[in-house]
Amino acid sequence: MAVRAAGQIAGICHLYRSSSLGGFRTLSQNVSSSKHTPSNAPETTVDHLIYTPEHFALKESIKKIIEQEINPHVDQWEAEGKFPAHKIFKILGNAGILGVNKPVEYGGLGLDFSYSVAVSEELGTIRCGGIPMAIGVQTDMATPALARFGSHELKTEFLLPSILGDKVACLGVSEVGAGSDVSSIMTKAVRKGDEYVINGGKMWTTNGTQADWMCLLANTSDGPPHRNKSLICLPMDLPGVHIARQIDKMGMRSSDTAEVFFDDVRVPSKNVIGLEGMGFTYQMLQFQEERLWAVANTLTTMDIVIQETIDYTRQRKIFKMPVLHHQTVHFRLAELQTEVELLRSLLHRATALFIKGNDVTKLASMAKLKAGRLARELGDSCLQYWGGMGFTNDVLVSRFYRDSRLISIGGGADEVMLGIICKYMDTLPK
Ligand SMILES: Cc1cc2nc3c(=O)[nH]c(=O)nc-3n(C[C@H](O)[C@H](O)[C@H](O)COP(=O)(O)OP(=O)(O)OC[C@H]3O[C@@H](n4cnc5c(N)ncnc54)[C@H](O)[C@@H]3O)c2cc1C
Repeated sequence: MAVRAAGQIAGICHLYRSSSLGGFRTLSQNVSSSKHTPSNAPETTVDHLIYTPEHFALKESIKKIIEQEINPHVDQWEAEGKFPAHKIFKILGNAGILGVNKPVEYGGLGLDFSYSVAVSEELGTIRCGGIPMAIGVQTDMATPALARFGSHELKTEFLLPSILGDKVACLGVSEVGAGSDVSSIMTKAVRKGDEYVINGGKMWTTNGTQADWMCLLANTSDGPPHRNKSLICLPMDLPGVHIARQIDKMGMRSSDTAEVFFDDVRVPSKNVIGLEGMGFTYQMLQFQEERLWAVANTLTTMDIVIQETIDYTRQRKIFKMPVLHHQTVHFRLAELQTEVELLRSLLHRATALFIKGNDVTKLASMAKLKAGRLARELGDSCLQYWGGMGFTNDVLVSRFYRDSRLISIGGGADEVMLGIICKYMDTLPK
């Protein structure tokens, strides 16, 4: 396995050819660019708990793409409210990054989920939350169920081009009236002959204005709410699919978020992923990957925000000494770094168990809960030490403060995570 992986990753590095740098530097990059590798970066030894040299080689190849193709343009895309998903996904697809744990026959690298976690960690070096989130939707939110339960025909039509970066995917679960309570979605797919006729709408759809297809959760019968839903691969160019608007958001600005309506959309019944009626269960399984992915992604950014705060407060003097030299500041940063390390340990433990085939719903929910809360705490504390600079749009810490607020809401709010943990603890009133 290790030999095959090494060959594949050498292939990735070979496949990727860098292109010229573009874009401009901002104040934040000038302030902090001198030290991009966090001095506290612990994850580069051969003794890593779950990573092999192949994981690190993969991370290195992603790092190059981010430095050359993404980070120079982030400020522009944040200002424009959208990044060019097709262009960036094609670059990532060429490098094999959009399907590291997906089957080889559909363009993936056939590696285990720990490689996906490694990818997500590295994507945390992108200088915003929106683009990593959009990539995560493609790789670990809209496609795991298709890869696991979809027919060969569906995988050929939707999974293969998504892994190659030829198609952009989105996930349609949340609706105007149903987010936390997924079972109460209203979108209906009614069987008529060998087609479904779909009516309803989806809200908060990441990649929604650019996507070629949606992994749609819809009610396909009137049965009990946990057994009447199906996941359907829905091409977004079908008649009756309307992008109502792009939602204006406080953070994740470079990621487009759409509201979508379906008006008598006809889709072949063969587009159902796996078994009809199993959509809710498949979606809940898909959430495990989504949550671990989100945790991995935010950990790296938290490391960078701490390190940039150290760099800034070391050179910024107040009352004749660096801000950092005030004990309240360096002690607080030490406390936050400790919390980050604890979360990293939980993530890697959950990942190790997951790749051995265990159900890690409880650990993934705990990690997601902790990630959301820690990101809020960390963003707020670090921003404070930047003083007025922290309140500008020129520094990563303020972008992180805004972007990371979503972690406690999206993909299941904190309270939803608590509910799941309570179920596993058998403390939730029936
Ligand atoms: C930027 C962005 C991108 C997104 N991308 C996608 C996407 O690509 N696809 C998709 O399907 N969805 C997406 N979402 C939707 C996201 O998953 C939902 O916003 C989330 O699940 C919460 O649902 P809601 O917004 O309807 O809040 P509601 O369900 O109305 O919940 C409101 C609040 O109630 C509280 N709450 C929830 N449950 C409980 C409880 N049991 N006890 C007490 N309090 C509780 C929580 O604090 C919660 O925030 C996205 C959202 C955003 C903002």
